[in-house]
Amino acid sequence: MSRSLRLGLLPIPLLPKDREETSKTRKWKACIRCRMQKIRCVADPGQPETESCQGCRKVLVLETKKVIHRIPCLRWNLSDVVPFRVGCLGFTQRWAGVCVEDIPSNDWADERVVTIGLGVTKLLCEPIPVRVRRFKPNSTDIQHRYWKYEEAQPSLVITLPAYALADVNATSEEYRRYVKRNAEEAVRRFISDTTVDDIVRRTFSIA
Ligand SMILES: [Zn+2]
Ligand SMILES: [Zn+2]
Repeated sequence: MSRSLRLGLLPIPLLPKDREETSKTRKWKACIRCRMQKIRCVADPGQPETESCQGCRKVLVLETKKVIHRIPCLRWNLSDVVPFRVGCLGFTQRWAGVCVEDIPSNDWADERVVTIGLGVTKLLCEPIPVRVRRFKPNSTDIQHRYWKYEEAQPSLVITLPAYALADVNATSEEYRRYVKRNAEEAVRRFISDTTVDDIVRRTFSIA
């Protein structure tokens, strides 16, 4: 009996090989293309998690002009999309989300407060003055940042000195004043600078 032939409402048992594939697919999830086409998403046995699935691979090598677009093989759910950063860079567990708090007074390393200037964009030279103070890091404070510019290369490491905002509320006020003072001029400069992307310039000129 052909497996594609359906007898009434009785489900047709899967072959062991298919069952194994289905359980793997459940783990990695079917890719967007296979899900939209409601077909079985069979991963590449070599690198199942990163490579294109066999269905997407077939489309990739097609040389027909009938295929006018290709979507990459992505095992994502639309509901997983995070369209903006939800706050918290994960550098500490002292607080969660966007509610930053002052460092407890016992955790400051000394009295000295340093004012640094944070640059925002090269089109606007005035930096935001930010007052920071050295603190004693606890076990949840991350003091290194790692990144790779090539997969095969070892990670680059940068050490983050333990400085925190000396006064969170005062900084937030300062930031508000800074935006008020500079926003209009920044928009004007963005519109008139030809190196700025066209979409940004058009959006800003509407604003
Ligand atoms: Zn697929
Ligand atoms: Zn795919």
